[in-house]
Amino acid sequence: MDQHTLFRAIPGVDETKQSLLAYDPSLAHCPRESLRTLIAEYWEGQRARIRAGKLSDPERLALARHLPLLGQFLRERLAPRLKKVINATGVVVHTNLGRSVLSAEAQAAVALAAGGYCNLELDLRQGSRGSRYSLVEELLQTLTGAEAALVVNNNAAAVMLMLDTFCQGYEVIVSRGELVEIGGSFRIPAVMAKSGAILKEVGATNRTHLFDYAEAIGEKTRALMRVHTSNFRVVGFHARVELSQLAELAHNNGLLLLEDLGSGSLIRFEEAGLPGEPTVQETIAQGADLVCFSGDKVLGGPQAGIVVGKAELIAQMKKNQLARALRCDKLCYAALEATLRAYREPDQAKTQIPTLRRILMTKAELKARAEALLEMLTEAVGERFLLGLKEDVSRVGGGAFPQYDLPTWLVTLKPRAFSALALKKALLATTPPLLGRLEEDAFCLDPRTLEPCDEALLAQVLTQAWEKARLAR
Ligand SMILES: *Cc1c(COP(=O)(O)O)cnc(C)c1O
Repeated sequence: MDQHTLFRAIPGVDETKQSLLAYDPSLAHCPRESLRTLIAEYWEGQRARIRAGKLSDPERLALARHLPLLGQFLRERLAPRLKKVINATGVVVHTNLGRSVLSAEAQAAVALAAGGYCNLELDLRQGSRGSRYSLVEELLQTLTGAEAALVVNNNAAAVMLMLDTFCQGYEVIVSRGELVEIGGSFRIPAVMAKSGAILKEVGATNRTHLFDYAEAIGEKTRALMRVHTSNFRVVGFHARVELSQLAELAHNNGLLLLEDLGSGSLIRFEEAGLPGEPTVQETIAQGADLVCFSGDKVLGGPQAGIVVGKAELIAQMKKNQLARALRCDKLCYAALEATLRAYREPDQAKTQIPTLRRILMTKAELKARAEALLEMLTEAVGERFLLGLKEDVSRVGGGAFPQYDLPTWLVTLKPRAFSALALKKALLATTPPLLGRLEEDAFCLDPRTLEPCDEALLAQVLTQAWEKARLAR
C-alpha cells in the first residue's frame, strides 16, 4: 500500500471531532480550538508512523479504533500541568515536589487571601496606606529576638538583596569551605558577582581559621559572610570559626557579619537524632548583623526568603529598589503568617506544621504505619505485587542536615509480572503520579511523607500502574 493512499485514509479533523464528542461527551467542555489542534496533532503522529513504515494497513486507521486512544491523549494533554503527586520518597523537603506542605492553618489563610480582598497594604488603625513588610515583622522579632525583619521572594533573593544593598563594589570575605552550589544553580561566587560584591576567598576547603579572616581584611572590605554548606557535609579534619568570634572580629573592624543559614530553623532537632545546628535566634544572639533563610525548607512555610537582624540595616534593605522587584505576594504572606504564628508555642509548631511533624516522627510510629500499609496493600493488590517491610532511612532534604539519617520503615513492592523499574516509570503517569524509591529490586514507599489522604489512593494508583506497565511490555 503506498503512503499517499494511507494518508488519504486518515479521518479529517471535523469528522474526528464529531465522532469523538459522540463517543465521549465529557470532552465537550474542552476549549474548541484546543480540541481541533490536538486532534490534528494526534493524526500527525499517525502520519509519522506511516512515513516510518510502522503502519501499512488502512484498516488500522479506522476512526472507531482510535477513539479510546484519542480520548486519553486529549485528556492527558488538556490536564493542568501542575498536578498533585504522592510523595512516598521519604524526603520531607523535596525541592522537585514543592518543598514544604503547608499546615491546615496556612492553607486556610491562603484560601482566605486568595478568595477576597485583604489589608495587604492598608493600615487599618490609621485608615491609610500601610506596608506589607509590617505584616509578619513583629512575629519575626518575637520569634528570633532580632530588631527587625524583611521577607522577599526566596532565600536566593535575600542573599542578593543583602549583598546589593551593602557590598556593591566592596569586598566580602567568605571561607573557601563555604563557596557552595545549592541545587538549581545557586552558586555563592556567581551570586556575589551578580550583586557587584567582590568575593574574597580565605582559608582552605576543609579548614578556615580566625586569622585567615583577620589577615584578609583590607581597605575595601565591607563584610564577613558565612554560608551554610547545606547539601554537603565536611567530615574528618576540618575547622570552622565560631560565629561569636567572627562577630567580634567584624565589629572591631567596623564590618558587617552576614549569615546565609540556608534552611534556617526556629527549633532544634536533637530529639530526632539530628545534629544541634544553631537556630535563627541563636545565630542572632551570637552577633550576626543579618541572617537570612528560606521559608519553605525546614521552617515549613511557603517559598520566601526571610532576613532578620539590625533595624537600621533592614531599613536600608527595604529602601533598595531591588526589594520592590523581589517582594512577596499576599498568598505568601498569608501562609507565612499562619506558619510563624504556630511557632509562638514550639510544641504546637511541632504538631501543626507538616514538615516538622514529619522530621520528628518516631521510628515506632513509622513502623506501625508501614505495617498498616502493608496489611491494606496485601489485601488490595497482593496478587499483583510481592509485598514486604524493610528498615531504612529517610532524609530531611532541601539542603538541611545533609547525609544525616532519619530511621524509618519502608513498604517494599515487587511486581509479579515486570520489573520494579518498570513500575517506577508507570507510576509517573498515574492519577495522581506516585514517587517512591527504587532500592535493589524493589519499589519502596516511605510512610514518613505520605499524607493520610494519599494512603487511601495507593491501591488504586498501584493498580493503574500495573495495568499500564503490563500493556507497555
Ligand atoms: C537553599 C539555600 C539557598 C537558596 O534558598 P531558596 O529559598 O531556594 O532561594 C541559599 N543558600 C543556602 C545556604 C541554601 O541552603
